[in-house]
Amino acid sequence: MAVTIDLSGKVALVTGAGRGIGKACALKLAEAGAKVAVNYNSSETAAQEVAQAITQAGGEARTVQADVGQAEAVDAMIGGLVKDWGRVDILVNNAGITRDNLMMRMSQDEWDAVLDTNLRSAYFTSRAVLRQMLRNRWGRIVSISSVVGLTGNAGQANYAAAKAGLIGFTKSLAREVGSRNITANAVAPGFIETDITAGLPETLKAEMLKTIPAERYGQPEDVANVVLFLVSDLASYVTGQVVNADGGMVMY
Ligand code: NAP
Repeated sequence: MAVTIDLSGKVALVTGAGRGIGKACALKLAEAGAKVAVNYNSSETAAQEVAQAITQAGGEARTVQADVGQAEAVDAMIGGLVKDWGRVDILVNNAGITRDNLMMRMSQDEWDAVLDTNLRSAYFTSRAVLRQMLRNRWGRIVSISSVVGLTGNAGQANYAAAKAGLIGFTKSLAREVGSRNITANAVAPGFIETDITAGLPETLKAEMLKTIPAERYGQPEDVANVVLFLVSDLASYVTGQVVNADGGMVMY
């Protein structure tokens, strides 16, 4: 008999799900039967297309707008979801941005924007879903970190700090809620082909490819597959972990 992952009856919220890795996660969770809330900040049309793809395939989805770096917007989004759909069982903290610069030149705006969107957001979203997860005695929180949060990267002190912060956040949360059947894990992607990496110089990409044992760049689905496992019952005894989806780029 084949092993199946069945998320029917579960409600999932994926932040930044109109594009890239978030889109792949939303589609993957819906494919497994979850009702999916497709969060976006500015990409309304793209988010609507993701929700439509899910409903056309027989699933259930809706779009929800919020800047995840803003507490009031997050509270309103999650409050609305719980009111309409009764619960949020699965939270994927995926939304993220880069504002690269060398430390000497990094402005406070560049620092704040990345920390707000990539780290403060996980505090806001997790805080907003936790109470009802605790009541329901089931929950899955997966945060998309980065291998850069493990290794550091020149020109990305803000991004690396936020991504490393997500890992400490995840481990602390896992300890707080582990007894209630709620897991918190992080996924650390390596080099994934999305809009975020599209603008990098070809020479840099070629250099990076040499450091990847799998000898290929990652695809959004490579990350979504790990997220699917972590939110499933197959991973009920996996919590507080960082799972790399990087083709072997970083091993520790
Ligand atoms: P992407 O294609 O640029 O997508 C970024 C997503 O984040 C978009 O859907 C965007 O939504 C959303 N977002 C940005 N600011 C937001 C905000 N304030 N509120 C809500 N949503 C917001 O990038 P990606 O590669 O898929 O990245 C997804 C996650 O993976 C990020 O956390 C990134 O750091 C992480 N990651 C990516 C790689 C990689 O190689 N691609 C590697 C490691 C980690 P809107 O378009 O609506 O603004």
